[in-house]
Amino acid sequence: ADLRIEYSACNACGNCIRSCPVNALYKKGNKVVLEENHCILCGGCIDSCPYEAISIKQKRSETINRKKTSGIWIYAEHKNGIMHPVVYELLGKGRELADKSNHKLTAVLIDGESSHWAKELIAYGADRVILCSHALLESQQDEYHFDAMTTILEEEIPTIFLFGATSFGRSLAPRIAARLQTGLTADCTRLEIDDVCGYLYQTRPAFGGNLMATIMCPDQRPQMATMRPGIMNAKEPDYYREGTVKRVNYKGEIKPRIEIIKEIIGEKKKSIGDASVIVSAGRGIGSQKNMKLVRRLADILEGQVGVSRPLVDIGWSEYSHQIGQTGAIVRPQLMIACGISGAIQHLAGIADAKTIIAINTDPEAPIFSVANYKIIGDCVEVLEMLIRSDREKQN
Ligand code: FAD
Repeated sequence: ADLRIEYSACNACGNCIRSCPVNALYKKGNKVVLEENHCILCGGCIDSCPYEAISIKQKRSETINRKKTSGIWIYAEHKNGIMHPVVYELLGKGRELADKSNHKLTAVLIDGESSHWAKELIAYGADRVILCSHALLESQQDEYHFDAMTTILEEEIPTIFLFGATSFGRSLAPRIAARLQTGLTADCTRLEIDDVCGYLYQTRPAFGGNLMATIMCPDQRPQMATMRPGIMNAKEPDYYREGTVKRVNYKGEIKPRIEIIKEIIGEKKKSIGDASVIVSAGRGIGSQKNMKLVRRLADILEGQVGVSRPLVDIGWSEYSHQIGQTGAIVRPQLMIACGISGAIQHLAGIADAKTIIAINTDPEAPIFSVANYKIIGDCVEVLEMLIRSDREKQN
């Protein structure tokens, strides 16, 4: 981008010079002059100019300008023969955005069992699948995947490109954004499209989660975002849906700087995000020994244990059990919240819980505003009562 001064409109009043925080403007004779190397394009001078004589001219990326944009794309991440669940969620959201803006939805699948997956991606909402296969792409080696994506993007670019905010998506998407000289909003929790101008409104927590920011990328294409897994809903698959498949040849001629020496697959733990019953505890549980009661009730109900953040902070639970904005997003059929106040950051993780039973001594606790059943009382006593009644039933 360049700062431009329109001298026919400028009367050298000096407002811009005074407003510039980096002394990039100065007077030479009766002309305002710009020291380009100093300018940080903050726009302060534009706001201060009463004659609208200053503007910022965007230099659009030449690569982008020459290319036709082709609808909405999602990146179909998979590993060891398993499609990442966020892909189905992206297809659901992508379909909704595509229908609203009259675009086609494309899924990009790099490597993988092509024909099987193409059918699956179309069933879940894609109109088209771009396939790019090569032996070098079998491992999740960022550099090869990035290079393959660059090959795909040489022919066409999307108007919107969505990735899962997984560790791989978080690594690949910024590289692509940098290559295309466009913006990227990471870790979105909400996406909306303006059906008139096509702008993507990308919402994500900002300032330590204390407010939600909606970000737009009006000048560059594609508009790119990574989306947090577990927030959106996948659509029901329709295996009669029809779509097209485009194959892109990848030559794999780069020399990567990273060498994968060995891949160690970690043990897959049951994720709290998939639990249909959760018994969760907050600070009101009182002591670490009472966590046994929470675990016991969760076992009786064949569910899992969830916690609020303070319990992770004081070491009573592992982070993998934390629910909320900085923890897991859960969607259980039943959730029993014991001694949890219902702070906004916690509620962000339980918005899709079907039935919430909240136990709290404070009748004004915010958790009650989202609860279906309210128990005003000591959660330790209620837990003991529930466990006892189960024991009595067994006898
Ligand atoms: P408290 O707020 O202390 O509430 C304890 C509750 O227990 C009270 O309502 C009290 O009335 C009740 N109580 C006390 N004794 C009993 C009893 N005997 N029986 C029944 N009830 C009792 N928090 C999360 O949970 N998840 C997140 O992901 C998360 N992310 C955050 C991100 C940011 C950027 C920030 C700033 C905060 C985040 N927090 C998160 C913290 C959040 O703001 C709250 O501080 C936290 O959720 C409070 O946890 P709590 O409800 O267990 O504790």
